[in-house]
Amino acid sequence: MDGMTARSVEKFVALSDVRKIYNPGPKQVEALHSITADIPSGQFVSLLGPSGCGKSTLLMMVAGLETLTSGTIELAGAPVAGPRSDVGIVFQDPTLLPWKNARDNVLFPILIERRSTAGFRERADKLLDIVGLSGFEDKRPAELSGGMKQRVAICRALINDPDVLLMDEPFSALDAITRDQMNEALADIWDQFHKTALFVTHSIREAVFLSDRILVMAGRPSRVVRDVQVPFARPRRLEIGEDPAFNRLCTELRHEIEAAYGDYGGPQRDAKRASFAASVGAPRPS
Ligand code: ADP
Repeated sequence: MDGMTARSVEKFVALSDVRKIYNPGPKQVEALHSITADIPSGQFVSLLGPSGCGKSTLLMMVAGLETLTSGTIELAGAPVAGPRSDVGIVFQDPTLLPWKNARDNVLFPILIERRSTAGFRERADKLLDIVGLSGFEDKRPAELSGGMKQRVAICRALINDPDVLLMDEPFSALDAITRDQMNEALADIWDQFHKTALFVTHSIREAVFLSDRILVMAGRPSRVVRDVQVPFARPRRLEIGEDPAFNRLCTELRHEIEAAYGDYGGPQRDAKRASFAASVGAPRPS
């Protein structure tokens, strides 16, 4: 991050008129229409929206793992031209190597870069300690629970001390209680490391709990329908979910997304709304 200008701090991740069309031609899918947003250094931003609205596509483009149809994405003032080591990524599946223990899985990115892991062992153990895995350093993935494996994956993403942490629905395969615990753990990790973070989720409550800011994505093709700052102080604990202001914001966001899908009528609308409500974890109408 040396040599950062005021502009590149304010626009650390700069998305400008980003568009994505898969399979251009008669059967093309326009996944993203035109996404423009500047994300300052150190901000935790969620990309929130129902399945299929292009959240993962946008995240993979920021990671340099997917091409843009048009527009630009800059990271720290330079265009993203491919995968880079100053970006850490966590996927829904922790994808740990089964024959390596937790510490060696955390150290794997260093090994890939053909650097000596010796100087990183201490950092790996410290990261594992921070996420509550002290004493599990020598355990293999088969000996760890789903939540523990995802904690190892987060440590692996942080081992290189990246400037940006990208997370693609990292907790959606976990049970509800573990997911809540992981949200709290991630909030703690973020309070300590303060990385610029982009977090993909279709859970409104998860987005509100974790984020400084939420970009609500919706529509076909998808666009940002709302850019909202989350006003709650940190550190945050799960009890914040009982706060009326927290619940008001969740309701507001749900209405916002529903409104973006409101251009159809009658039974078709009701069916789509029910399926949407289920996809974002909203309570079912009685
Ligand atoms: P989300 O992460 O919000 O669920 P995605 O980014 O995965 O959404 O997908 C956005 C849209 O792009 C969907 O309609 C999906 O079917 C389509 N899509 C995603 N990847 C591909 C691909 N490789 N080829 C064609 N269409 C794709």
